[in-house]
Amino acid sequence: MATKRYTFRLYSTKTQENKLLEARRYHAYLYNACIAHRNFEWKANKKTVTYLEQQNCLPAFKKDWVDFAYLHSQALQATVKRVDLAYNSFFQGLRGKPKFKLVRNYSGWTYPALSGWKVNSDGLHGTVTLNDLGITLRMRGQAKSWGVPTTLTIVYKPSQKQWFASFTVDVPTAETKSGAHSGLRYESIVAFDLGTETALTLYDGERFEELSNPRFTQKSETLVKQASKALRRKRAPNRTKKVKASRRWKKNRKLVSQLQRKVSNQRKDWQHKVTSEIASRYDIGVTEQLNTKAMTRKAKKGSKCKKQKAGLNKSILSVGFGAINTMIAYKIEQKGGVTLMLPTKKIKPSQRCPHCGAVHKEWAELSNRHHVCTDCGFEVPRDRGSVMVMYNVALNQQPGLGTSLVDCRCPSSTDSTKKRKHTGSMKQLGQMKRQKSCSLVDGNPVRLATG
Ligand SMILES: [Zn+2]
Repeated sequence: MATKRYTFRLYSTKTQENKLLEARRYHAYLYNACIAHRNFEWKANKKTVTYLEQQNCLPAFKKDWVDFAYLHSQALQATVKRVDLAYNSFFQGLRGKPKFKLVRNYSGWTYPALSGWKVNSDGLHGTVTLNDLGITLRMRGQAKSWGVPTTLTIVYKPSQKQWFASFTVDVPTAETKSGAHSGLRYESIVAFDLGTETALTLYDGERFEELSNPRFTQKSETLVKQASKALRRKRAPNRTKKVKASRRWKKNRKLVSQLQRKVSNQRKDWQHKVTSEIASRYDIGVTEQLNTKAMTRKAKKGSKCKKQKAGLNKSILSVGFGAINTMIAYKIEQKGGVTLMLPTKKIKPSQRCPHCGAVHKEWAELSNRHHVCTDCGFEVPRDRGSVMVMYNVALNQQPGLGTSLVDCRCPSSTDSTKKRKHTGSMKQLGQMKRQKSCSLVDGNPVRLATG
């Protein structure tokens, strides 16, 4: 059983949308009220308010603020939980202190369990009913595999003025065909790497396949550039000078965001098409662990190749480096295959000669497009060389690397090697029962924000 997230676009009538906007407003109020509560308690009593304390305030809160009473209680709890999650990651130093949120930018709310909503869909379009608002919305979208929907999050995107329903769905998965380190099926193994000249290089032991960077991103990019240039020439809003945005500026900004959205949609579409096609052909994928963040870091100050690095960053980001890698990985796994993430530092695919295994430090230079081995005379283009090395390593036939996969502790992407700091999750909601006694400290400080 795997948990997947699928998002559908919602279509509402005017009255339905007003109801949705109202519910969103109340959830935003509650979110801000919870933050105010925590701020107040900390300033006044140096006390850290817990999730449970805030959750226990909810029934009394609803009694005082009757407007809230019709909203689903678990959805309200989930909003309180959002504050708790934000504070938890703040306490762990993962993010800044939670701030009040503008109602007009507030994203939405969550139904953390099965009650309060009902979905009528088999993965393609359908409807969703929100009991607390008393509305049934049409939705459009397609899920690749469908199962039992477990939670629902209603999302509003203010810039697009669009509503979405995001479900987590329990989907039955295929059994893994082979273990991570045993019984590799050689005939359907592919090594893939992300290059800069070619977006993606694949090698399956016999032939190479090279996918080039899609042209449309560059094409749309010029359009975005033109539109943003025009935007800069219009009167932008300025709060300190009390200047309002001109109508032309607003119109132009809308155009810019539309174009940007189009580019990102095109990119996503291309990535999904390409990766699905690859994943459908192979059972085992081999790639290296990439650190895109480090790769796209700005050039060092005073560095000569500043422009070059900026251009490289752009081409890395335009393909969506990390995304495409993980997409192939999860899509192969989804159909029961396995993806091996080779440790880059240990194997050095881009510096190693696929033929004799000698490591050439000078190959690491990105300007070095064509590699000629000084030890054995083997010639190979840079991107092809590294996929060959990875392919060989996966089959345990790479010269110069005596280690087998097990020895070099090669993690498959299914292993939970990434240790994330745990900040809790919505799942806890169902497990925590509300305590009977409801204590309001200092006469309802929750009122502070809404009052
Ligand atoms: Zn060599």
